[in-house]
Amino acid sequence: MKKIILLSLISLIFNSCGTIRFSKEKDAKKTNIVSKLDLNNIVEDRIPVEINPGKFNKDTVVYKMPRVVQGTYSISNFGRFVKNFKPISYSGKVLDFSSEDINTWKIFNANNLDKIIYEVEDTFDIENSEDDIPFSPAGTNIEDDNFMLNLFAFIGYFKSLQNNSYELIVSSNEDYKKSSALKLVSQESNTKGFIDSKYFANRYFDIADNPMMYGDLDVEEFMVEDIKIVLSVYSPNKNHTAKSLVKTVEKMMFAQKKYLGSIDSTSRYDIFLYLSDDKEDSPTGLGALEHHNSTVVVLSDSFSEEMLAKSMIDIVAHEFFHILTPLSVHSEDIHYFDYDKPTFSKHLWMYEGVVEYFAQHFQVNKNLINKEEFYEVIMDKIRLSNRYDDFMSFTNMSENVLDEPYASNYYNVYQKGALIGMCLDIIIRSESNGEKGILWVMKQLSNKYGKQKPFKDDLLFDEIISLTYPSVKLFFENHVQGNIPINYNDFFEKVGLKVVEGNVKTNFMRSGGGLIFKAGEDNDKIYFGSNVANNSFWSDQGVVNDDLLISIDNVQVTMENVNTILRNIYEWEPGRDIYVVYERDGEKREIKTKLVQSYMKDKVIIEPSDLSDQKKIILNSWLFN
Ligand SMILES: [Zn+2]
Repeated sequence: MKKIILLSLISLIFNSCGTIRFSKEKDAKKTNIVSKLDLNNIVEDRIPVEINPGKFNKDTVVYKMPRVVQGTYSISNFGRFVKNFKPISYSGKVLDFSSEDINTWKIFNANNLDKIIYEVEDTFDIENSEDDIPFSPAGTNIEDDNFMLNLFAFIGYFKSLQNNSYELIVSSNEDYKKSSALKLVSQESNTKGFIDSKYFANRYFDIADNPMMYGDLDVEEFMVEDIKIVLSVYSPNKNHTAKSLVKTVEKMMFAQKKYLGSIDSTSRYDIFLYLSDDKEDSPTGLGALEHHNSTVVVLSDSFSEEMLAKSMIDIVAHEFFHILTPLSVHSEDIHYFDYDKPTFSKHLWMYEGVVEYFAQHFQVNKNLINKEEFYEVIMDKIRLSNRYDDFMSFTNMSENVLDEPYASNYYNVYQKGALIGMCLDIIIRSESNGEKGILWVMKQLSNKYGKQKPFKDDLLFDEIISLTYPSVKLFFENHVQGNIPINYNDFFEKVGLKVVEGNVKTNFMRSGGGLIFKAGEDNDKIYFGSNVANNSFWSDQGVVNDDLLISIDNVQVTMENVNTILRNIYEWEPGRDIYVVYERDGEKREIKTKLVQSYMKDKVIIEPSDLSDQKKIILNSWLFN
């Protein structure tokens, strides 16, 4: 009897060896979710992914990819890039599952689920051929010499295990350089001769918040006070190096750190710069996406060194100030972010607006630009904000930012949002006799809340008002919650500035009304438009509305190359020789000259010479304290 029992036990074990394995596996609730990305087995630009949770004690589990990720304010649907989704049982069979929606898989017999395998397709090369592809800095790239790994595009989460920690193993060729905002735990050669790099993430939030880049990278590190900055650059044509950018970025971030003063911040900050090749399958969404300790930036490899440096200042300064908000000061909507159906905070005026204001204000404050240049930036923001609905409540827009008509007004957060930041700064400066400003308020909030402690969305205004003045309350009620347009002159008046008609520097492709070129109505030719009248360079050369543009520097202008030509014109600087041929009434005319600074007539901010001492104090405190 005993023997038989023993034999049948053995056969039981034999038939279900998987059972033995799964009984050894830890409860899914109590163990890391082990995720693997295999960069050595790329087929058709797809990375094989393996997700291995512990053992589930339930019949069905739900696995999700993010529908929305933080900082994008748009729907990404990362599930659509997942191919060949397969839940595998302990005995190696494919378990039944159903796709609930594009981002959601319901897995049956989950008691038996060993792991999930699937492949993820990249997004950079389909931006031009498919609709609604995520903004490039939130996208992915899978190529022999470059992997842009925004991890939220590769790794999802189990609905019941959102707070589980993750172990991430990225297997790669030993020739690849790598750069990761996620902490590297260990690294070893595997049996196939590849390198397995092991990373750890506390919860899914940290997976989503920490991008990586692998491949033929150029990496430079430097210290800005106590923060280690890691700049990783991918330049497909080797036009740019991390080294060539270090000086610019270092100078800027040093000034930013000085501007911020002592705040509780990160010990390491990563900048991932992907330079796009301007080919048909290259990413086109130039810009950046912020994370707690890093930012992903996409710019063009064809930019000149000066242009790239200028763009890096504009973009990285903004992204780096996000360490103050929303990364430190943020509401519950952000802290407990729902990657499927997020709710949005009312306070985009602060997360994006005040941040953008700081990104401009620190430059004058720390003498990277002069006062006049700063005033021009402010006027430019006023001009650009006129393209959006000035009667839209900012808090309303913020809470409903995925839906129309709010979504198409989102970009006003960088214009009017920044101006809201400026107005608040001026109110607080003038009320406190120059002693305090909006940065002081943000630092108070950062001390009180910080990374780990969200504020209640509905209470933020009251909290700021209690730190400041009744006039701040009135401003919020009228111009941030309310829909009354801001009369900026009232605020300039507080610091003694005046807005008058004057000459504003412009480039060689724009004037106050916009682009000075236009496409032909019934042909595919390029003409000068009516805006050319308000561009001093071109109108001094005698060019008028409806003149047909034939060639620039002996290159014929066509519909096909007009974007490249416009970009070149955008980079023109005074002193450059140009040769332009255009046509009027069938007669060819030419311009052969050296470029001089071009101006347009528009509103400018001036500092009157008879400024009172009191106003001078407020003005100087606003600009330089
Ligand atoms: Zn931003």
